[in-house]
Amino acid sequence: MQSVIPDYLTEVLADVESDVSGEPAGYIPELAAADPDRLGAVFATLDGKIYGAGDVDTEFTIQSISKPFTYALALADRGFGPVLAKVGVEPSGEAFNQISLERESGRPLNPMINAGAITAHSLVGSQELDPAGRAERVVDGLSAFAGRRLSIDDAVCASEMEHAHRNLAIAHMLRSYHILTEDPRGVVDGYIRQCSVLVTVRDLAMMAATLANRGVNPVSGDRVIGERVVRQVLSVMATCGMYDSAGDWATQVGIPAKSGVAGGLIGALPGQIGIATLSPRLDAHGNSVRGVSLFERFSSDMGLHVMEVPASAPAVVRANHVVDGGRHAVRVIALQGGIRFAGAERIVREIVDAAPAEIKVALDLTMVSSIDDVARRMVLEVARRLTLDGHEVFLVDPEALVPDPDPGEGGRVTVVEDLQHAVRGLVDKHEPGPGSTSDKKQRGPA
Ligand code: GLN
Repeated sequence: MQSVIPDYLTEVLADVESDVSGEPAGYIPELAAADPDRLGAVFATLDGKIYGAGDVDTEFTIQSISKPFTYALALADRGFGPVLAKVGVEPSGEAFNQISLERESGRPLNPMINAGAITAHSLVGSQELDPAGRAERVVDGLSAFAGRRLSIDDAVCASEMEHAHRNLAIAHMLRSYHILTEDPRGVVDGYIRQCSVLVTVRDLAMMAATLANRGVNPVSGDRVIGERVVRQVLSVMATCGMYDSAGDWATQVGIPAKSGVAGGLIGALPGQIGIATLSPRLDAHGNSVRGVSLFERFSSDMGLHVMEVPASAPAVVRANHVVDGGRHAVRVIALQGGIRFAGAERIVREIVDAAPAEIKVALDLTMVSSIDDVARRMVLEVARRLTLDGHEVFLVDPEALVPDPDPGEGGRVTVVEDLQHAVRGLVDKHEPGPGSTSDKKQRGPA
């Protein structure tokens, strides 16, 4: 059977194909020469599957879609403090090439507008790097996100360099405020190289998927960037990625995104998917007309808006019962699914509302798929308090979801592979084997 997804993509491309409104970017002559009818879309899953339709392997220049990735590299190479001191994170509500800087400090408002992106470019690599070395580090970094070696389109690069007056003006302003501390021309040259990196829709989807996958490229398996940096980058994409249409985008589409003047558009849906489209005709904001339409369709057809509140997950507490109701009774609290703060709160409440009468308490994680850091800490704190109340606590954790559990002062947990194993160890040899009784009512008072 053929997958339904490429058919869906083909159908949506056909629906937007007739829209020929907008114009390809005219201020970079070489871009104006590109075929405006190109149209393609790719979905990249977080386990490395690619679905595409239309022009998925045509190369074009990445342009501003390079900005979030270069920002990521700067954060990774220099750290948050030095980067935030020079580039803010406030949406500007202005066009991408607006010559505007924060009053007094001269700090660009965010790394998605050109002023911030030029600054972020200057912060990639170590301080000692010369402009050429820095541009190389940028191409290497973008390549790691894409999972293949990328190169620069020299013709587009030269064409943009010849008409870079506006970016040079921005860079000179940045230099006057000491946001840039070197020759602005070298920085703009490097920034334009960065914008001239050739990519395909497939590459862009993979780059987006790397962000959606917490910084690990789904195909190469390489960790390209740390999770804290990914969160920062996705946040800035969500608030500033679409320039002066960021609010419309946030409400209509709701996917952290970035557009480029060559007609590319990416969206990274955290924990789910990377999406990319290509269509060179741009709207007044400099965003691809048909790209925006495609993303609107994707978001509404498939419920991809990040603010879409998911249907409530199955109860985290699957069962609360006593195994072998005799002298060696074990209170078993069986958990399931993915546990985050709200789920952990349910676990805490389950135990606080009805304190176990049994000495032995087992928290059974066998059916748990994931447990995040705060949930892990809350569960261990419950284990610690149970110990202090005189209980013996077992953690049934065959997948080592909580490796080396340390409940802290006064707490103690015994990790076991499976519940039967645990109960058997507890039952007196002369007694019959373990049995399970569901007896919520037998529990002692809170
Ligand atoms: N290289 C382009 C510029 O700096 C990138 C702009 C964009 O894609 N929005 O003007």
